[in-house]
Amino acid sequence: MCGVESVQRRASSLDSRRRALHRKDPVSTSSSIADDERFMAEAIAEGEVASAVGEIPVGCVLVAGGQIISRAHNLRERTQDPTAHAEMIALRAAAVRLRSWRLLDVTCYVTLEPCPMCAGALVHARVARVVYGCDDPKAGAVRSLFDIGQDPRLNHRFELTAGVLGDACSRQLSGFFAEVRRKRREPLL
Ligand SMILES: [Zn+2]
Repeated sequence: MCGVESVQRRASSLDSRRRALHRKDPVSTSSSIADDERFMAEAIAEGEVASAVGEIPVGCVLVAGGQIISRAHNLRERTQDPTAHAEMIALRAAAVRLRSWRLLDVTCYVTLEPCPMCAGALVHARVARVVYGCDDPKAGAVRSLFDIGQDPRLNHRFELTAGVLGDACSRQLSGFFAEVRRKRREPLL
């Protein structure tokens, strides 16, 4: 989704939290680097589930109070639903669980930079923070193409951290597309 095939070409510049981008005072970030990497690893695990069923591997977990409150992966092919991105599914599940559309104090961990739809949904949900793995130069809407999470014209802004386990997230996507290309080249039996 979201032009992700090109991600691996540029994502290597965002391969560690040390080089991660902080769009808000990092002192205000209560979570540790270890926590961010632990939760991103969970998002990557969700991406693996997607990959196993032929979906582009994008995974997401939502965290509140140090606990995962929902987790999801891209299901666009299986559902034939253009909105079935990992973040959208995770947001819906968290809202049901919390019985509120306001997901205050929630951090979203997602392997790929959110697209405009998901970035908009994250604003609507009032999440506190978004952490993503690798950039999406063709559709990323929180840094690459747009800056939806920081736009002062909108009524909510969230803290942003980019590049957490970015190499692993990028490799997951590039590995998926390499496998798709390999299967296309296989002769029919
Ligand atoms: Zn999206």
